[in-house]
Amino acid sequence: MLGFARFAELCERISQTSGSLEKTDILASFLSDLEPDDLRIVTGFVMGVVIPNTELGVGPSLLYESICKATGLSPEAIKELLRATGDPGLVAYRAVERRKPLTLAAFSGSDGLDIKNVHQRFLSIAKASGRGSQDIRVKNLQYLFSEASPLEAKYIARLAMEDMRIGVGEGLVRDAIAKAFGASKEDVERAYNLTNDLGLVAEHAKLKRLNELGISINRPIKMMLAQIGESIEASLAEGATAVEWKFDGARVQIHKDGTNIRIFSRRLEDVTSSLPEIREIVRAHVRAKTAILDGEAVATGEDGRPLPFQEILRRFRRKYGVARTAKRIPLSLHLFDIIYVDGVSLLDAPLEERRGVLVSVADPEIIAEQVVTSDVSRVEGIYREALAAGHEGVMLKNPASVYSPGKRGKNWLKIKPLLESLDLVVIGARWGEGKRANLLGSYRLACIDSDTGELKDVGWVATGITDEMLAELTEIFRELIIKESGMEVEVHPQIVFEVGYEEIQRSPNYSSGYALRFPRLIAVRDDKSPSEADTLERISEIYRLQRGRSKNEELLK
Ligand code: AMP
Repeated sequence: MLGFARFAELCERISQTSGSLEKTDILASFLSDLEPDDLRIVTGFVMGVVIPNTELGVGPSLLYESICKATGLSPEAIKELLRATGDPGLVAYRAVERRKPLTLAAFSGSDGLDIKNVHQRFLSIAKASGRGSQDIRVKNLQYLFSEASPLEAKYIARLAMEDMRIGVGEGLVRDAIAKAFGASKEDVERAYNLTNDLGLVAEHAKLKRLNELGISINRPIKMMLAQIGESIEASLAEGATAVEWKFDGARVQIHKDGTNIRIFSRRLEDVTSSLPEIREIVRAHVRAKTAILDGEAVATGEDGRPLPFQEILRRFRRKYGVARTAKRIPLSLHLFDIIYVDGVSLLDAPLEERRGVLVSVADPEIIAEQVVTSDVSRVEGIYREALAAGHEGVMLKNPASVYSPGKRGKNWLKIKPLLESLDLVVIGARWGEGKRANLLGSYRLACIDSDTGELKDVGWVATGITDEMLAELTEIFRELIIKESGMEVEVHPQIVFEVGYEEIQRSPNYSSGYALRFPRLIAVRDDKSPSEADTLERISEIYRLQRGRSKNEELLK
């Protein structure tokens, strides 16, 4: 049995260590001693993944309500602690320190919380749905806070927020697993990309069975991603000669297991119940018994053009009234890849071959058209057609390339007319003035520095937000406020904005070293988690590529 206190002490030690090598060593030695069950839980917990592939659904206000109930402190006292510390973990720590009266557990000399018990409580929280779910969430958290020591409470609060703030990300955990169990980093990474579950990977590494982990039906695998192509010409010269439209929709990974069909979003969340017609389409048009298919779901308006991304998200998020929304925003499916068929993995088969399999198991009306050509003007023609139909541009893929889960590489290149929009994490906001005094009107944006995992700011966005959205956003962000100073607030980094802009400039004013010129909000990317936001590297890459842009724009004239 692993006491939760030992886990909390581990987190504390890691957070007080600055070098990532040292952090890795501490974590590796902790992991190497654990029983497989505990190992699985700890591996997720250290990076704030409480239940893999599932969101907990706990917001700050629910957290604070539970702390109030467990400690007997008033909401005002909690607010005061929040103002003083600016950190939900420290709020929990101090509140539990002041907890009165002592709980029965303290008198009865109970052994305290063990990590399985904490995991079990979070599982109940994640599973809660429908009426009464808030209550279930509060009760479980309340239990944890009333049993916890201050230090345990600190990390329970951070787990509840799915944000550990100890400087441990996926990369570090992967390295620690490799080190703890003498596996190669490549094998660990491969296993992770195939399973999307580092706990499972750690367990297999311990048992020396990493190579047994592979693609498995009903378990989402990381999606292959695309890089920005410099131009059509340059992309073709790289060998990316299989040309498809870049559809303006949302990514779906579909697992067909006989008549059972499950759909995963780009974040690898199970969205099956929100997308009944996609399930029907697959049932009607895919002949393979088992298959993992990759494609784009597009919402089409009455004019036959794709609806804005925001509308599709409505479909993906919908839990109630699914049929009604499906009627208003019908989706169509455009498959462009297949990675598993009738018991056989196609990951290592070249795209050409995978495409052949796709064509043989699915009807043409649900397959994205593909043309293989090295003729620049032909590709330009396809590009114009895609844009005229309201889609984003084209994807140029290397026909000889394997499917690389979780990788953004040169084998898939995207060509879009304007500068890439950026997905940035909102880390702060500013209250408006005059009529907008009660509204959060501008939002401070940050990208991820992938070396350190830190968020680096790139400026503010205030354009592109309607009055209606402003009210909605204010409600969302009010819940996430960590600290207020004057007109500005700091918010919990949880929401991702897709932001368009005219240009990226160098700037000493922001910690990223860059600023966006004329930023405007395009969409709130509920489908993306902060860890998926764009990186500083990407921003400097776009900064560099800006010069090549004029070429693509000319095509539109
Ligand atoms: P981005 O999100 O800009 O990095 O572009 C990659 C995304 O484009 C993928 O995740 C898909 O959702 C989408 N997409 C649209 N059409 C295609 C296509 N033909 N092949 C691959 N991805 C596509």
